[in-house]
Amino acid sequence: MKVKIDKHKLTSEELIVYNKPKKVYIPLISGNDTNITILVNKGEYVYKGSIIGKRKGDFRIPIHASVSGTVLDFEERTCYNGEKVKCVVIENDFKEKIEQKLSIKKTINQYTKEEFLNLLKENGIVGMGGAGFPTYVKYETKNINTLIINAVECEPYITADYSIAKTKCEEILETIDAILEINKINEAIIAIKKENLELKQIFDNFIGTYLKIKVKLVPNIYPMGWEKALVKQVTGKDYDNYPSDIGVVVNNISTIYAIYEALKYNKPLIERIITFSGESLEKPSNVLVKIGTPVHEILDELKIKPNSIIVAGGPMMGNKVEDLVVSANLNCVLALNDDLNMATPCLECGKCVSVCPVKLSPVLIMKTKYKKEKDIKKFKVLHPEQCIGCGLCSYICPAKLFVRERVKEAKNIIRGDK
Ligand code: SF4
Ligand code: SF4
Repeated sequence: MKVKIDKHKLTSEELIVYNKPKKVYIPLISGNDTNITILVNKGEYVYKGSIIGKRKGDFRIPIHASVSGTVLDFEERTCYNGEKVKCVVIENDFKEKIEQKLSIKKTINQYTKEEFLNLLKENGIVGMGGAGFPTYVKYETKNINTLIINAVECEPYITADYSIAKTKCEEILETIDAILEINKINEAIIAIKKENLELKQIFDNFIGTYLKIKVKLVPNIYPMGWEKALVKQVTGKDYDNYPSDIGVVVNNISTIYAIYEALKYNKPLIERIITFSGESLEKPSNVLVKIGTPVHEILDELKIKPNSIIVAGGPMMGNKVEDLVVSANLNCVLALNDDLNMATPCLECGKCVSVCPVKLSPVLIMKTKYKKEKDIKKFKVLHPEQCIGCGLCSYICPAKLFVRERVKEAKNIIRGDK
């Protein structure tokens, strides 16, 4: 079953800049990995862009300070995934001091591949569409033939990517062209939803001289932004593990702009655009915000109503939270006044099964009880670990059950982090 989702898109197109957090809480997380070495001490002065932590293991990607100021402490704060994560607390001195002057590169397509990979790595560029995977790793693949730029943004409410695509179209095209040249990739395809004809028009106006870049309209079906569905739609091909299996790299469009800033200014990933939306906000807006900013400060600026429900992420894949801090892969915050406690018992209608894009049986997973270690076997045959968290099962459920959350719990049990 293919599912079309209501839009709820923003009416205001103004981009607000919020740059006055008194303190930032930089989450020590990279993707889902919290195995981070802390490189600063309490009382230490840090510059905007200073490296304050580094991921351990295979992907030794750094984490940077988003303001200049003094390291006050290390505290746990809720992050995009609804989990508490250790953060470096920095008191902002509002001087925006940087350690060394950033060099501006006239042309960004003359780096060697090694320099390119290094700039992406050292500037902490990660996927900004959700997974937070280190971007340089994708380009380490040999024989890439197609770059797909994901500008689909299929969840309702979210327009952060749309906002950056509209305002930074020339920079994005220049970056795609540089990536193609440096990595010797044949073609790039910018995937845009059919309903976003205005965005296609904007790209068409500037694309003239970039002969290897094309814009492709894709169906307005959820979850078209999911990497596997998008690659299939654009190339007609399936893959087992990663798009690189078939010579494809997929980058979200906000990530492309972060690559631009890394190549042009040697600027680390320390800020991003986030959509703040939902019926409980008087002024729903896209906001440019520093990583580590407490979200409640921005919600207050946008005049949130009392007793609202806050969701980190979109309505399909997001997590209900009390408060949270901004991380590199947080693309949306919703303030809703829906009553989420209207669930009734399961009607056994099977709708959740028919919509699941990875062909799971969410209702069976939900009804499987876990009491002891031996019960894991019952979950294993249902493969909850394959869930992509798209939320379609919960969206379609007429009984308003939190099906996705139950599948997520089963996934955690299998992974051993229940
Ligand atoms: S959230 Fe998981 S179980 Fe539910 S429809 Fe999406 S992939 Fe299937
Ligand atoms: S969609 Fe909801 S009511 Fe229908 S089978 Fe799935 S969990 Fe039960």
